[in-house]
Amino acid sequence: SALPRLQDGVRMTPADYKGIKPIWCPGCGDYGILNALIQVLARNQVDPARLAIVSGIGCSGRFPAFVKSYGFHGVHGRVLPVATGLKLARPDMTVVAVGGDGDGLAIGMGHLPHAIRRNVDITYLLFDNHIYGLTKGQPSPTTEVGHKTHASPFGVSEYPINPLALALVAGATFVARGFSSHTRHLADLIEAALEHRGFSFVQIMTPCVTFYDTYKQWKQQAWELGEDHDPSDFQAALRLATEAEGMPIGIFYRVERPTLMDRLAAGAKDAVRLQSGTRYDREADARQ
Ligand code: SF4
Ligand code: MG
Repeated sequence: SALPRLQDGVRMTPADYKGIKPIWCPGCGDYGILNALIQVLARNQVDPARLAIVSGIGCSGRFPAFVKSYGFHGVHGRVLPVATGLKLARPDMTVVAVGGDGDGLAIGMGHLPHAIRRNVDITYLLFDNHIYGLTKGQPSPTTEVGHKTHASPFGVSEYPINPLALALVAGATFVARGFSSHTRHLADLIEAALEHRGFSFVQIMTPCVTFYDTYKQWKQQAWELGEDHDPSDFQAALRLATEAEGMPIGIFYRVERPTLMDRLAAGAKDAVRLQSGTRYDREADARQ
């Protein structure tokens, strides 16, 4: 939805949008995500009083403290229920949920398809580094099969989850992938996600330089989607998410559909008319 702007006469610089100093490891991809979001906030002069960032547990969980806005550091895996509740209680707020691949795709996985199919008007930034960083490098649901860590000395024996394909088949209305090192491109993706009306999902590839340094590999693999990809084409998006060579980044899929709030509002109108004994004509209402 439209981003909430500062009132006329008030200006904020990128530095003004920064919260406390981040304590991530030097070189962590998460700095790139933070810089991209700060860029978006500054260039749109977003009112920080109407922005809330909700996080789960993990290195990404610290994110709300690093941005000058409202923030909520939730419990492990519960970022989407908290963000959904916040948006329903305060529809005037722009709500951004952030969490890692462990938080969102392991313990929190049950929430993801349901938040998606509700089409709540929130943005979910999935910080995907293919590892549990905060707890020192255990394999996560996106770690490649065979990858060795101290917790998987003979190599990971399970196949990884494909977050983009998952979001697509669950019915997400906005699905994108960014890379923390392509900061300007990532900023454009985050901006489009925030402006999208409905559930926007952005998988952000962000290397954990300390426990699984994928930086060089992803730098080689990343390529930006061009004009030849039509983001309204679901099958093309699914093919890209499942079959593309390398690591395509950009908007895979974007479509408009009524949000949870739209449907609840229509339902409330139905209920009121039923009570007053008049039959509700939904089509007539839509014409008004
Ligand atoms: Fe970043 Fe990994 Fe350090 Fe966490 S442990 S701050 S994900 S580099
Ligand atoms: Mg992780």
